[in-house]
Amino acid sequence: MKKNLYCLSCDEIRECNLKENKITKTIDGITITYLEKKYICSVCGEVVYDAETFDYNIHTANDELRKHTGLIRTSEIQEIIDKYSISQKNLSKVLGFGEIQISRYLKSGNPSRAHSDILKSIKDNPFVFEGYLLNAKDILDEKTFRKQLGKVRQLELLSNHSKIYDISVYLMEHNPDTTNMSLQKILYFLNGFSKKFLKYNLFNDLAQAWIYGPVYPEIYDALSYYFYNKIDVDEILKDKEIDLSEEEINYINNVSKFFSCYSGKKLRDMSHLTDPWLNARKGLSEKEPSNRIIDNKDMDNYFSKVIKDYNIETVDDVNKYAQDLFNKVLDN
Ligand SMILES: [Zn+2]
Repeated sequence: MKKNLYCLSCDEIRECNLKENKITKTIDGITITYLEKKYICSVCGEVVYDAETFDYNIHTANDELRKHTGLIRTSEIQEIIDKYSISQKNLSKVLGFGEIQISRYLKSGNPSRAHSDILKSIKDNPFVFEGYLLNAKDILDEKTFRKQLGKVRQLELLSNHSKIYDISVYLMEHNPDTTNMSLQKILYFLNGFSKKFLKYNLFNDLAQAWIYGPVYPEIYDALSYYFYNKIDVDEILKDKEIDLSEEEINYINNVSKFFSCYSGKKLRDMSHLTDPWLNARKGLSEKEPSNRIIDNKDMDNYFSKVIKDYNIETVDDVNKYAQDLFNKVLDN
């Protein structure tokens, strides 16, 4: 690498060559070793000042030092910013630091132990970051808050912490027409019939009784990142391992097809005919927003009754129920 730089000893602009040297330094009693970069004047052989390599050397030394002190490193802070697609200023706000704190840490200032610990706690765990974000809801403007929450939910979707995410990802992967609306309803019906065919609830998350039918808010939020764009299934699936048993996959395949053949709007209307959603919305007008939880007992009672009324014995029998709901929606 060559660069034309001002050489102080020649008092001229000179062509300079980049040299890398292994450096060992002791700072605050800690000895570090790193590669230092400098430009050497090709005429007089003196070291020439260059802002870029000067910054690089400070960063590298700091990063090395932090490896030893256990404080978060500049490169790790940058990783957080990239991963959560958040500005330095907003990250400072969300974590409750002073507004310019993150950019100071990035420039070279060593973080305090407390700030370092907070940054480390969110680095690989979107669920922890979500806690900070929800607390900062009133500090951020609405649009920024929604965007950041969507990004966090998307990262959660990529992590392996929750079964409902695995099921959602599986459903989207196997049905490219899935939308945020249709997915919510398919999850609802899948969980409803799972007690009968799997002997347990497929997942433990509870739906809320929104205007548009039952909704699992964490899944809704995760996909809302794609609200204005098509759901990028490839991006969601990247690095995602789906942890479902063969029995569960068979159940999902065999039952979801009876619902995924309908549009999101039809499924919404079909879900409007089900007791658990209706019960949760008792006393609310048609257009009244609500976060009311759909009761698990209501789910059990209703789907037990459906299984009896429609004489459902095999997974194929579920189609009798699905078709009947669909016909009722057409009649309405
Ligand atoms: Zn020179």
